Amino acid sequence: MNTPENTSKTTGVPLEKSDAQWREELTPDEYRVLRQAGTERPYTGEYWDTHTEGVYQCRACGSQLFTSHEKFDSHCGWPSFWAPLAEGTVRYLHDRTMGMDRVEVRCANCDSHLGHVFEGEGYGTPTDQRFCINSISLRLVESKEPVESKEPAESERK
Ligand SMILES: [Zn+2]
Repeated sequence: MNTPENTSKTTGVPLEKSDAQWREELTPDEYRVLRQAGTERPYTGEYWDTHTEGVYQCRACGSQLFTSHEKFDSHCGWPSFWAPLAEGTVRYLHDRTMGMDRVEVRCANCDSHLGHVFEGEGYGTPTDQRFCINSISLRLVESKEPVESKEPAESERK
């Protein structure tokens, strides 16, 4: 198998960390996808079927990348969005690995791999684009109820 080597050391993104730092901060699975452009198996990720309202952040750096508003059911096994949260939150790279001609999507802030974007598939979304993103590259922050930390709850009412 032909593993593409990432030889470029400086990417010029706002948040640069050494490979050792990333290895320390991320789980092995996160590292494999985010830093080595791996792909999680379809229908196994946390968010492929999620309809929760919220903002999807970059799992590596916390940058806000996508929202539930642009998420749609593509039934491809990965979370799919028809647009990023805003222009410039992601960057695009031509990816010709694996014998395919694809456009890779990376976080514009930390250059972590997110997934790929496909076009013209006829999904009937406003852009006709499908940002096919690994769940493990994202972290959903729900917007309706504030995310509560584990508290003993009710027992201590004043
Ligand atoms: Zn990031």
